[in-house]
Formats: sequence, structure tokens, C-alpha cells
Amino acid sequence: MQLFKAAFERSLTERDWKQNILFSFQLPRGATHLRVLLEYAPHEVSGYLNMLTLAVFDPSGWRGAGHRHGDRHEVVIGADGATPGYLPGPVPPGEWAVEVDTHMVMPGPSCQMKLTIRADSDPEGQPAPAPVPGRTAPRGPGWYRGDLHAHSPHSDARWDIPALLAFARARGLDFTTLSDHNSTAGLAEMLAASADDLLTLGGMELTTFRGHALALGVHQWIDWRTRPGGRSMDQVAEEVVSRGGLFVIAHPSAPGDPYCTGCDWRHPGLMPGGASAVEVWNMDWRSEVNNEDALALAYRWLNQGCRLPMTAGTDNHGEHLDLKYGFNVVYAAELSEAAVLRAIGAGHLYLSSGPALGLQARAGSLAAMMGDALAAPAGEAIRVAASWSGCAPDDRAALVVDGEERERVPAGGQGSAAWQIESGAARWCHVTLRDSQGTVLALTNPIYFTGGS
Ligand SMILES: [Zn+2]
Ligand SMILES: [Zn+2]
Repeated sequence: MQLFKAAFERSLTERDWKQNILFSFQLPRGATHLRVLLEYAPHEVSGYLNMLTLAVFDPSGWRGAGHRHGDRHEVVIGADGATPGYLPGPVPPGEWAVEVDTHMVMPGPSCQMKLTIRADSDPEGQPAPAPVPGRTAPRGPGWYRGDLHAHSPHSDARWDIPALLAFARARGLDFTTLSDHNSTAGLAEMLAASADDLLTLGGMELTTFRGHALALGVHQWIDWRTRPGGRSMDQVAEEVVSRGGLFVIAHPSAPGDPYCTGCDWRHPGLMPGGASAVEVWNMDWRSEVNNEDALALAYRWLNQGCRLPMTAGTDNHGEHLDLKYGFNVVYAAELSEAAVLRAIGAGHLYLSSGPALGLQARAGSLAAMMGDALAAPAGEAIRVAASWSGCAPDDRAALVVDGEERERVPAGGQGSAAWQIESGAARWCHVTLRDSQGTVLALTNPIYFTGGS
């Protein structure tokens, strides 16, 4: 039985692009299901897509979001289930709001949108039992391999969470993350799947109009919406960190509007500001997101004196499963979410599509691993040593100092190299492994030289 109905129509122009448009309404008592339908046209203008997405807020706050393409978005929320991206549960009376986020409104013909909202009192099915968080037996200190960026149908992926977990297991990962666009609705299922052989991490991809960032390790929805004079992206980053998460700038050099709406990083206060890390390896190294440019950007930030860990993420949406993805190999105190996040925040990781890669620096009795700083007295010689295995005959290892390639050596099979750097003459170094085409196969996080006196 229908208890409530409302319809809104808007004609959107280029001026309405990158807005959060709220449609509020009062729901009467007794509703069991909320149904929302968003339709808009045209879908395509000059070969590019208009992109409007939905979010729903109930009287207590965020209730879900559906960040996906398509000119027809249909949402049902009830105690017995909800459309992916949204949280199932009771439909309480009070003030609700449906938000239309205008990720892309192309110049040209105006975009006609129609929003229909209905609440019904219907016979209810059985509510699904709430998933119980899974447990991963702690293992001791060691190198753990995992993914920090992947999607499910709770945003715009083609595969479900069991398929995502199967992908991780087939690649021998120790941990894997769910980071859906602007939704945490899949996290209950993801975290319930944590098991001894595979740790699952919480997360969300803050999919803003001016760049994407991973909120790694968060279990609650983070409000990604910013407005001039109001909440800034810097405050969003602070909130992620204050909740125990890492704020990772994702694919910063990806092509942006109108091809991939808001996909390139353009938040001036976070260049890198209070960001925890930057994802320099998204999908496979040669993907269209310009990983080489992302690495060059990280070099610029490191040269400015930032200590910014570099991460990899498959950004897997359940397609192209055979790509040469980059994974993170993290030295953590144990295999737990907190320890893995701590290690990534400290830069104790290298990124690799296959080979193992180590890096250490020594000066006198001092030693540092990747991510650490070595405070060698000025003028003292620093010995930097790299080791690797699993390389092809034509692969090459290179020492990069302050963003410049210093020396390159053949790296076939298993090997090692050592270099000397004078303290005070360099601020940081790291090592890359590339194949004969120049494609990165692995790279370490930097070791920093603080030139103590
Ligand atoms: Zn993204
Ligand atoms: Zn993503």
C-alpha cells in the first residue's frame, strides 16, 4: 500500500555540474519500503556521458549511495533487503533526503532529470541476519602481499565480493581491500569474509568531483562532499586519519573530465598536504591512468621534502583479470588490519607485479629499511644495497636518487647491487625494476637521508 509519493523534475545545465542537489521530504509512520527512481536524458552528448548518481539519507544520516553509470537508477530500501550500495533496515518516519550528485553535466542540450520517490507499507520478508566480522589468526612479523583498491556491485563493479576474494586467493594475496565509490554498504560482507588465509580490510573510495582518494581501513561512511566556505577536502583527509584510516590519493594523473569525470587529482590543499600516501600504480603499469606521470608527481613531492609512501591498487571492477597488476608487499608486525595500515603509513612496502625486491641503507652502525630515514653524519658514506629475485634476463634494476636515475644494472634472475651515496648530497633514494620495454615490474618505497650532524 502506497503511503507517500513525491516527484521532482529539473532541467540541468553545465552550471549544475559538480553539485550535490538535495531533495528532502517527510516520511509518514508505517513505511516498510522506500523506492526511488532517477531517470535522465540525454545520456550521451558529443560522445561523452552525462553522469548523475544517487545517495539517500534517512533521519539518522547516510543510508547508501549508488555510484554507477546508466540513465536509470532504481533503489529499493527495506528491512528485508536493499539495492547494492544501500543499507537494508527499517524505514523510519521523519525527514529523509535523496541527493543527486552531478558528476557530469555536459555542455550542450540541458539534461532533463526526473526523480520519483515512493514509500509503501508492504508485507515484509525475513531480514537477512547481520554478518559477523570474520577473524584472521595473527601471524608474526613478515612480508605480506595484498591489494588496496577494488570495487564490488555496491558501486560499479561487475563481480561480487566472493569473486573478488577468489581473485585474491588465486594470486596468493594475504590481504585484500574493498573500496567502493562513496559507499560502505559492502563492508559488512567483506569484513565477515576475513579468514586465516586472507585478511580483508575496510575502505571506501572518496569519489569527489576533483579527484579520488582511498580511505583505507575505514569501516564507516566518510562524507566526501565539500563546499566553498564549508567542509574542505583537507578536513575530509583529517577525518579519515582521525578514524584510524589512511588517506591515499588514487590515480592522481588519470585522464579527467569529461572522459573520466573527476578522476585526476585537483585538490590544491592536498598536494600532498595531509595525505597519508599516493597510489602510483593503478591497475597494470601501462594502463590509461598514466602511472609513469603519477610516479613523476610522487618524485616532485618527495623532492619538496614530503615523506609520502607510494602504494599500488588493482582498482579491479571484475574485468580484465589477466592484466599484470601491481600489488603491495608490506613488512608488517603481524597480519592484522591495524598492523598493515601502520606499515603502509610508515612506507614499509614495495610494489610489484611479480619480482621480490629489497632495499636497505647503512652508514656506520646505522641502518634503514624502505620508508625509514637514515640520519648519517654529513660527509659520511651511505651504502645502499638492493636485492631481487624472479626477474627475466633483460630486466634492469635502477637506483633513483632525488628523482633522477643514478645507475642502471642488469637484473636477470636473482641478484643484488650496492651503491655509495655521500650523506648530505642526497635527500632520498629508491630502486625500480623495469623490463626491456621500460615497464615497471617492481619499485621500493624511498629511504630518506636526514644528514644528521
Ligand atoms: Zn578512482
Ligand atoms: Zn577505484
